Amino acid sequence: MSEATETIFSKIIRREIPADIVYEDNLALAFKDIHPQAPVHILVVPKKPIATLADAQSEDHALLGHLFLTAKRVAEEAGLKNGYRVVINTGDDGGQTVDHLHVHILGGRKLSWPPG
Ligand code: AMP
Repeated sequence: MSEATETIFSKIIRREIPADIVYEDNLALAFKDIHPQAPVHILVVPKKPIATLADAQSEDHALLGHLFLTAKRVAEEAGLKNGYRVVINTGDDGGQTVDHLHVHILGGRKLSWPPG
């Protein structure tokens, strides 16, 4: 199954460790990245502990849509009128370091492409 093991994000969701939370609903939580790579760097996580995008199942399709619409909402609320980047690092080669699915929102500066 696609359940994530216990991660730091599970602890943030349960309010066991602090985070700068900017949005919450019954399915998702958004909080500021602790090591921001841009003036705005926010993570959107599902409350359901899916480890990686590669572990998402067809039953998660509505949740995945919700995460993207939440990312759009959070970006708007952060004032990113000139655009932003949405990233989901997936697995080792993707550079994922926390095994709980998360959407990065990066903005507030011109971002280069391609990534490293
Ligand atoms: P990734 O490398 O895609 O798995 O991204 C994990 C992100 O989580 C990194 O950008 C970290 O800076 C961020 N991060 C790790 N621990 C925390 C924390 N306690 N609060 C907020 N962000 C965190």
